[in-house]
Amino acid sequence: MSPAADQLNLFAQARAQFQILQTGFGAGKQFFATCAAWQAADKPQTRLHYVAIDPQPLSLSALSAALSEQDFATSALRELAQQLLLQWPPLFKGFHLLQLTEQVSLLLVSGEVADCLPQIVAEFDACYAESALSLALPASHHRLAYPTNVTVIGAGIAGASVARALARRGIAVTVLERSHPASGGSGNPVAVVRAEPGGAHHPITALSAAGVSWLMRWVATHGQTISHDFCGAIRITRDERRHQKLATHAQDFPPQWLREIHRDDASALAGQTVADAGFLLPYAGWIEPAALVHALLDHPCISVKTGATVQSLQRHPAHGHWQMRSDDGLHTAACVVLASAFAQGLSPHALAIDSARGQLSLLPERAGHDLQMVMCRDGYITPAVNGMHTIGATMQKNDPCTEARLTDDAENFQRVQRLLPGFATDATQLVSGRVSWRAVTQDRLPLVGRIEEGLYASLAHGARGMSCAPLCGEWLAALMVGEALPLPAPWRDFLDPLRFAVR
Ligand SMILES: Cc1cc2nc3c(=O)[nH]c(=O)nc-3n(C[C@H](O)[C@H](O)[C@H](O)COP(=O)(O)OP(=O)(O)OC[C@H]3O[C@@H](n4cnc5c(N)ncnc54)[C@H](O)[C@@H]3O)c2cc1C
Repeated sequence: MSPAADQLNLFAQARAQFQILQTGFGAGKQFFATCAAWQAADKPQTRLHYVAIDPQPLSLSALSAALSEQDFATSALRELAQQLLLQWPPLFKGFHLLQLTEQVSLLLVSGEVADCLPQIVAEFDACYAESALSLALPASHHRLAYPTNVTVIGAGIAGASVARALARRGIAVTVLERSHPASGGSGNPVAVVRAEPGGAHHPITALSAAGVSWLMRWVATHGQTISHDFCGAIRITRDERRHQKLATHAQDFPPQWLREIHRDDASALAGQTVADAGFLLPYAGWIEPAALVHALLDHPCISVKTGATVQSLQRHPAHGHWQMRSDDGLHTAACVVLASAFAQGLSPHALAIDSARGQLSLLPERAGHDLQMVMCRDGYITPAVNGMHTIGATMQKNDPCTEARLTDDAENFQRVQRLLPGFATDATQLVSGRVSWRAVTQDRLPLVGRIEEGLYASLAHGARGMSCAPLCGEWLAALMVGEALPLPAPWRDFLDPLRFAVR
């Protein structure tokens, strides 16, 4: 696998990033040849972004067998192959972003080339045609001005995710946080991570699937300090009609990702008698949110300023940069990301974000009541973590009450009854848990993208921020630097922060 001279010439010209398109991926022969040339070109400051469309990607076992027969010339290539196997995604149709090293990423698009090509938002530097690499664009093509530093407002999962995604791209990030990291919605003791199965092309289904898949890959490579267990989840529906709808939907997915499950099998997997038949989501589980936020922020290019409430945000009339007034003084930045969950009056446009209070309840772990999987329906109960099952969560619009309420615990007790009848005997067994607020939009999708020049948002992650905000951070960073977007083209509109805005 020796690098071709023409590839070395191409890579020699690359600056911050180099994007390549290949149709077909197979066992990655061409990909590894490209990476070998990339390593030989020795461009430590440049990132290689490889996009491959494959109508039928190999299964993990077939890929593993194929890679074991390849002769990798360097230890760096062998490590890359190991990462590829570690991160090989559950192969449902769609976009799968794999961050293989700090420099090399692979966007594997599973689907027919003719369908997928128009869905890819990217400017490629080169593409493979018949195994030869050629320039894709005229040399004069114009790329986005690459930001060198960015200020992020808010250190919850949304802010931490976009900060990390920018930092990985070599951008210096300052995070301004009014309290401390994970002090808002992202500070719950445990969060459920799972996709929301739904209609075939439902945006929430697609975003949550891509989001969970991405998060699990990130945690597999960076999650040593994060308490989590991707133990799987069982989803029960409210009635037979919804069950049948999901059963049809499940047929579009590989069973490793989603499958219908009988009540007895569900009970055997959960270790407890479950209320009904349902659906098994093997790629799901729970995570400790604050640990995830801290792990994301732990990067040499990120500096976090705590106790810094941003009170105002305005564009300077002369130099056009954004000025933020906070408790500790005036901050100026050419590029700002709002990640404060709610817009807090900081956006020049009213973004139409509602507030929904949520209270968790906790149930102490008891002998003989082992729960092996996350159970969910109109709420959830997790396996015991640190001696407690977490039960979530109530939902009250525009309710500012910070006190935990026994009536909420009673509501959460009913949620457990609908999942695991008899698992708890009465509501007094529950202990009141944390109260926090979800920032929600009318369509239950977050607001992610560009607001104005130099001003971006990753807001309103609603009830699924732990599952979806990490991928949204990656998507936003790609948008900001002009990299291939890790979601199909229509997502620019689905996530558009101005879709409900009034000036
Ligand atoms: C009860 C409950 C249970 C939930 N369970 C789950 C679950 O199981 N799975 C799941 O995926 N999701 C769950 N969610 C949703 C998830 O918690 C949220 O979507 C997520 O935490 C939102 O993250 P965020 O970073 O957008 O907001 P936050 O975590 O609220 O972070 C915003 C940060 O911005 C800071 N900030 C705000 N204003 C300013 C300012 N002016 N200047 C500086 N800093 C500022 C805040 O202090 C805060 O730290 C749950 C939510 C609730 C309420």
